[in-house]
Amino acid sequence: MGLYKEVGRKKFVWFIIILFTILPIIIVLNLKEEMQRLSSFFWSLYLIPNILIMILYPKWKVIIGTALFYSILKYFTFFFEEESFSKIETAALILESFVNGAILFTVSYFALRHRKLLKHMQKLIIVDSLTGLYNRRYFDLYLEKTIPFCQRTNSPLTLIMVDIDHFKKVNDNYGHLCGDVALKHISEIIKRNVRSSDAYVRFGGEEFAIILPNTHLDEGKILAEQIRKAVEESNFIYHNEHIYISISLGVSLYEGEKVEGFIEKSDKALYSAKEHGRNQVVVFDHKDSLGRKVI
Ligand code: GH3
Ligand code: MG
Ligand code: MG
Repeated sequence: MGLYKEVGRKKFVWFIIILFTILPIIIVLNLKEEMQRLSSFFWSLYLIPNILIMILYPKWKVIIGTALFYSILKYFTFFFEEESFSKIETAALILESFVNGAILFTVSYFALRHRKLLKHMQKLIIVDSLTGLYNRRYFDLYLEKTIPFCQRTNSPLTLIMVDIDHFKKVNDNYGHLCGDVALKHISEIIKRNVRSSDAYVRFGGEEFAIILPNTHLDEGKILAEQIRKAVEESNFIYHNEHIYISISLGVSLYEGEKVEGFIEKSDKALYSAKEHGRNQVVVFDHKDSLGRKVI
């Protein structure tokens, strides 16, 4: 639906662009003698398509190319229309181009700067600065979109919650900085093991979440076990010292509940993994309120 709207809006914008490209030419070519003084006003309407194209394709190359194209169009019409033209008229035309160009480039400069800033802010809002992974806010937004999609297409959705085992000890024994490096280390392992269609985030502190669209519980369990093994076998070295790190994982399948309920199921399974001795994967099962140990 959103895409259709977007395409429809784009078509309308292009309609306006074409309209305001042709209109000044037609009007100027048909201006009566006494109305000739108004021609510079009609040429200034070219700012409209220029600005609209800048909004559609906010790149300096496109902006400069478009400005040149419209200037050429204007000069062609001018020389085609006038049999003889004075130096003053030519100078006025060129000056007018400079003024319009200055307006266009000023608007473009601020629009591009604003866009860049907005992109940077958006990134700050959804990306965790330590690990470079998406954060909880992104997780919520992602699930908000993915759950209705999976319901519509009747496709399975699996969620893995990950928690580092005895992480407090890593901080206590080796320092907070070492803990930070360990968090990055685990992030890299998760990134390396998930598929491009999966979303993975730093959920909070030393917890991560992996959303697996179009994935059954069994496949989720296999991926969770693969990540657990990769962490266990990974060689985490800090200041020449090998530090043993493991993770516990809880897996659950979406079954039409609210988002909080879905997270709670994976959390319960994760809690069960901790209860059963850590460094393992547990799949949520309704029969056992704490989740069932499977591996
Ligand atoms: P468990 O196996 O039961 O999960 O034990 P744990 O020690 O991992 O769990 P606990 O919740 O007691 O401790 C989590 C620790 O994670 C405490 C906190 O200092 C640490 N932590 C959270 N965020 C960060 C961070 O950004 N950097 C570092 N270095 N440590 C963090
Ligand atoms: Mg924790
Ligand atoms: Mg922990």
